[in-house]
Amino acid sequence: MSDQQILVVEDEENLAEALKFNLERQGYQVIVKSNGYDALNVLQQEAPHLIVLDVMLPGLDGFEVCRRVRTTSNVPILMLTARGEEVDRVLGLEIGADDYLTKPFSLRELQARVRALLRRGGGAPPDGNGEAMTAGNLNVSQDARRAFRDGSEIPLRPREFELLVFLMRNRGLALSRRQLLDGAWGSDFVGDERTVDVHVRALREAVENDPHNPVRIVTVRGIGYRFEG
Ligand code: CA
Repeated sequence: MSDQQILVVEDEENLAEALKFNLERQGYQVIVKSNGYDALNVLQQEAPHLIVLDVMLPGLDGFEVCRRVRTTSNVPILMLTARGEEVDRVLGLEIGADDYLTKPFSLRELQARVRALLRRGGGAPPDGNGEAMTAGNLNVSQDARRAFRDGSEIPLRPREFELLVFLMRNRGLALSRRQLLDGAWGSDFVGDERTVDVHVRALREAVENDPHNPVRIVTVRGIGYRFEG
């Protein structure tokens, strides 16, 4: 049995049961909670490796749960929604979700996303390439998966960290959103190009002195982004 623990927050009993059954068969330990308050309580005692979080929940909705989790934790969050609108996807990513699945989804698809998120959150440096990188006041240790600005650690979610590493490795080059998607997160990542913009915005908040006038991660009009430094 894997020591990886997944917290599933879903109020639809049948779906919650199916998720638990399926994920346990994949070897994960699964905790199921049917509302946001219970989920947040679990996080006082447990440190799951991943949270599968439904958006439509009684009481606190999934967005609010996500926001509150993010005040204390960088655990990967996979959000589930019955609504597929772009605005929900973008809102979810902006408040800190790492990936998104729209209901109905296949359990196979869920498994693939879960595996990908756990791999990212699992601390393995990509491609065995573990050197430290520096650009001005920024330092990144790929082995430790930690980033520092002026010597202070910047809290980055796994996907932000990978994007920063890829940008720094390719500093000086104009990279398209598609190149950033594939290069930073791998071809098994299912996302659209807006996802890159959302994560660039979050990264700028973390690494730029003035996020509204970025000098490190600059926009290349008509193409994408370029890392300077
Ligand atoms: Ca629900």
